[in-house]
Amino acid sequence: MNIVENITKIKSELPERVKLVAVSKTKPNEDIMQAYNGGHKIFGENKVQDLVNKYETLPKDIEWHFIGHLQSNKVKYIVPFVSLIHAVDSLKLLKIINKEGGKINRKINCLLQMHIAEEETKFGLSFDEINKILDSEEYSQTEFVKITGLMGMATNTNDTAQIHKEFAYLKSCFEKTKVGYFKNDENFTNLSMGMSGDYKIAAEEGSTMIRVGSLIFGARG
Ligand SMILES: *Cc1c(COP(=O)(O)O)cnc(C)c1O
Repeated sequence: MNIVENITKIKSELPERVKLVAVSKTKPNEDIMQAYNGGHKIFGENKVQDLVNKYETLPKDIEWHFIGHLQSNKVKYIVPFVSLIHAVDSLKLLKIINKEGGKINRKINCLLQMHIAEEETKFGLSFDEINKILDSEEYSQTEFVKITGLMGMATNTNDTAQIHKEFAYLKSCFEKTKVGYFKNDENFTNLSMGMSGDYKIAAEEGSTMIRVGSLIFGARG
């Protein structure tokens, strides 16, 4: 398993617009440093404690993305340095991120997570709920939050038609959200969809950011 080769291969197959977030969760710093020394600087983690440990011990020019479900009481640990929070799924969480960002005068980039899969266990908002949040008075006062796009996870299935359908739906919601709320906002550009098993389909359906772990670093134990 050659980490740098894996990254190079994935990147070579992607359209220019698609950014690769290397999901390093559960993997040691040595693995991240292999990728880093090969020129890759964007990594994703899904546990706050792990992300903080890695941020503190690894080079400071790494762009750290938080891709997991974020608990309110842990927001404060990552706002000083996180580049993008992928999975904001409530107005409550958005308000806490805003409050913590305000304390250190830093605007925090966030994506709203949409529920597009059939599984009920996956987090995320419906398109209706996204509209409600963006229409709310409270959202209009979150000056330390910058919503730069949407994120979603497709159903874990071999049915590629189903995956295509779910990603196409997310893409259409992204376009509607852009037109409805972010028309003149050049920052609303991120559509985070696609993982090891389905990133090619996601890219075909208009993804601008894929989150790939096992295909780069190997299976997680
Ligand atoms: C773990 C994880 C990934 C990466 O999964 P792989 O199948 O290993 O590529 C992507 N997105 C989220 C939200 C994850 O938790």
